[in-house]
Amino acid sequence: MIFMFCVECGSTDKKMVGDICIDCFLKDFQMIEIPENIKVEICSHCNSRIEEGKWTDSFLPEDEIIYRALERNIKISNLVENEIINLEIDQIKGTIANCYVEVVGEVYGVQLDETHDTSVRIMKTVCPTCSKLQAGYYESVVQFRANNRDIKAEEYDKADEVVKRTLNKQSKSDKLAYCPQIAKLKEGYDYYIGSLKSGRKVAESLKEEFGGIIKESPRLISEDKSTGKGLYRIWISIRIPEFEINDFIKHEGKILQVKDIDKNRVVGIDITDHKRHTIPLKESEDITLLKKADEIETTTIISKSPSNIQILDPADYSAVDLDMMDEFKDSNIGDEVKIIKINNYIYLIK
Ligand SMILES: [Zn+2]
Ligand SMILES: [Zn+2]
Repeated sequence: MIFMFCVECGSTDKKMVGDICIDCFLKDFQMIEIPENIKVEICSHCNSRIEEGKWTDSFLPEDEIIYRALERNIKISNLVENEIINLEIDQIKGTIANCYVEVVGEVYGVQLDETHDTSVRIMKTVCPTCSKLQAGYYESVVQFRANNRDIKAEEYDKADEVVKRTLNKQSKSDKLAYCPQIAKLKEGYDYYIGSLKSGRKVAESLKEEFGGIIKESPRLISEDKSTGKGLYRIWISIRIPEFEINDFIKHEGKILQVKDIDKNRVVGIDITDHKRHTIPLKESEDITLLKKADEIETTTIISKSPSNIQILDPADYSAVDLDMMDEFKDSNIGDEVKIIKINNYIYLIK
C-alpha cells in the first residue's frame, strides 16, 4: 500500500488531488475567471456590437448586451460540474454597469459557491453599416415608372408600401437593406437602396404587385487606380404597363378587358364572347391600349329579341342594334347597361 499525505498540510486522511489534499486544493481554487473590467463596443444607432472584429446582433436591448458580455467573458474550469451561474446587473452608472456573478457548482464532489464583482463598460461608436447609411451610401437606384402614362397617387402609395415591406424583410439578412432617399420626379419615383441585392428584391416586389418590365443599367462611378477595377452603381427601372385593370386592350386581334395583372401575366376577358385569355407579360409589348376604363358609358335597353338587343347611343340618343349575348338574355327593357365604344363599334360590357 502506498502511503499518501498532503505536501501542504501533512494530513493523511483526506481525499487527494495530485499531491495535496482536497481542502488545500480548494483553498485557492476558483470555479470561474472573469475580468474585473469588461468593455463592449456598440453602435449608438443600431446597438450592434463588435466581437472578434465583426459587428453582430443589432437591436439588442442594453441589458441583454451586458448579460451577453458577461457570459462571453466567463471562463469556467472544466473541473466544475452541475454549475448554475447567476448574472445580475447591480446598477448602471452612465456607461458603466456594475455586475455581480454568482456560481454554484461541484468540484470533486464538494459543493462550492463563489461570487465575483465585475463591471461592463459600454462604449458607443458607429458601426460601418450605420456610417454608410448616415453618409447616404447606396449601391442601386430603383426607378418606378409607367409606360406612356402618369403614375397615380394611389400607385405611388402602394409602391412606397411595397418598398418598405420588402426592405423590412430583407433587413433580416442584409444590413444595407435601407432606403436613404426617395427622389420624386415628374416621371416617377427613384428609390435609392443601400445594396444591389435588396435593390433587385425591391424591383421584383414592385413587378409582382404591378406587373411590368425590369431593366438594369450599370453606371461606372469610380475606378480603383491600383486594381483597375470599376465601382458600379446599378440603376434598375421597373416600367409598369400603360393599361390597368378594367382597361381595354388589343392582343392578337382580340379585344380584351383586363381583369388581372401580376408579375407574369395579364388576364383579360374577350368582350365579344366573354372568354378568358391569359397573356404572358413578356409579350406585353404586343399589347395595345384601346380604351381606359373611365371611358365606359352607361345607357338603357330600349328593346330586345332573342337575337338582338337595342340600346340608346348616349352620344346622340339614336337606337343601336347589337347581337344578343347569353349574358344579357335575362335583362329587361329599361335596364341600365354598360357599353364601351371602340373603333366606332359599341360593345356591351358585363
Ligand atoms: Zn492539505
Ligand atoms: Zn449600427
